Amino acid sequence: MQTLLPYSPPTITRHLSGQNSAANRNRHAHGLNSNICERIDGVPVADLAARFGSPLFVFSERTLREKIQRAREAFESRYPNTRFAWSYKTNYLNAICRVFHSEGSIAEVVSEFEYEKARRNGIAGRDIIFNGPHKTRAGLELAASEGAMIQVDNWDELLLLDTIAKEQGRSIDIAIRCWLDAGIQPVWSKFGFGVENGEAWRAIRRIAESRGRLNLQGLHTHIGTYILEPNAYKVAAEKLITLMERCRESYGWALKYLNLGGGFPSLSTLHYSYQPAEQVVPPIEKYAEAIAGALNTLPRDRRPRLYLESGRALVDEAGYLITSIVAVKQTGASGPITLAGKAAKAPAYMPESTGSAYVIDAGINILYSGNWYRFNVKPAKALRESAQHPVKLYGCLCMNIDVIREQVSLPAMTTGDHLVMHPVGAYNFTQSMQFITYRPAVVMIGLDGRVEIIRERENLDYVQRLERVPEHLLCGSRE
Ligand SMILES: *Cc1c(COP(=O)(O)O)cnc(C)c1O
Repeated sequence: MQTLLPYSPPTITRHLSGQNSAANRNRHAHGLNSNICERIDGVPVADLAARFGSPLFVFSERTLREKIQRAREAFESRYPNTRFAWSYKTNYLNAICRVFHSEGSIAEVVSEFEYEKARRNGIAGRDIIFNGPHKTRAGLELAASEGAMIQVDNWDELLLLDTIAKEQGRSIDIAIRCWLDAGIQPVWSKFGFGVENGEAWRAIRRIAESRGRLNLQGLHTHIGTYILEPNAYKVAAEKLITLMERCRESYGWALKYLNLGGGFPSLSTLHYSYQPAEQVVPPIEKYAEAIAGALNTLPRDRRPRLYLESGRALVDEAGYLITSIVAVKQTGASGPITLAGKAAKAPAYMPESTGSAYVIDAGINILYSGNWYRFNVKPAKALRESAQHPVKLYGCLCMNIDVIREQVSLPAMTTGDHLVMHPVGAYNFTQSMQFITYRPAVVMIGLDGRVEIIRERENLDYVQRLERVPEHLLCGSRE
């Protein structure tokens, strides 16, 4: 759904900031220092690495708060009855969740593990949106007894809930998750009930047949992730509104909420995208316009509450990974290019056969989203030799597929120099796995510039805590 942007002339200024300044339109001129990342929120990267070790995940509390505040403002100014629910799976480090909760976000969870986590973060059951394709009977019973917002994914779950309601002689509030064609490919039909194929309506009829055991409170959809097309949300909202209105007409139900899920993009760049994120990612306000525009066509007294479960758009840019170069290698078959020497004019494109590479101390096991996204990689200090060369960036795992960037332009650097990856705040930590080495510490830079550990670096005791060695293998071991 690529639409051509209308031409708007650049404003010629001396400054590099501002949407339309000429300098910003020239992707080869991004300002003097944008190729290095010396500080994060004012704290020198070198100090962070010296104090907490490398690699190190760093989160900016300021950016987290700015992101959620701007998102709330964007939506609430257009549609006051909006609430954000923090998508736990995007990043469920408790400190991160609690920043969002302190900004008024409730919790959105997709498993019982996440449900427990949200409860322990002080979130009441009624302020938890319970999603996910696999909810156990125990999980559903708990969520129902605590008044959580259960978003039913499938027929089996719907019938199980009806059984629970019958057995317990009570009624259970639910919403149903819907999948629909909002013009985004692929359509995520794995989750929920199809709108266009009539399944969502059949589920609603089944709910009506429960005669009050199941109460339909809302409709949910989550159309995908990193959606660059705000209009898709308008389409999705309109389809849910139509379904909601049909519930009113057929059963006299006034649904309390529509849940448009998440999927707003962060300023990250897909591998195949030529343009940098800044040029392809619409601002959050465009999404607010699209969704609020659809909802505001309803008469005032029929406007439901809007829930949003935005994940990556709120946390990705708040996260950095500091790494160190541990080896400089020549990977090609033919003549070396001397990175540290005076190879003044590097060719614009370096074929694999003459490549050089840096090995860094972080692997794809902690940068899983690097499968899809091309992280920005910047040296943590200005280098005397600032000319850039294309290099390959290898992770530190004993696997050939452990490549963080196939090619990135970097100045000549040496072992011990730091590189900063950004944005890496979404999904990388929750999807990381312990493999070969310990996962790194995670710190957060507070609003006052204080740096606090929010997750310790792993150690042998942590990794082995759940292991058990059978008695007969213990003899002779050294404690
Ligand atoms: C993962 C997920 C989200 C968050 O998605 P983002 O693309 O990170 O905004 C929201 N809702 C549901 C149901 C999800 O599974």
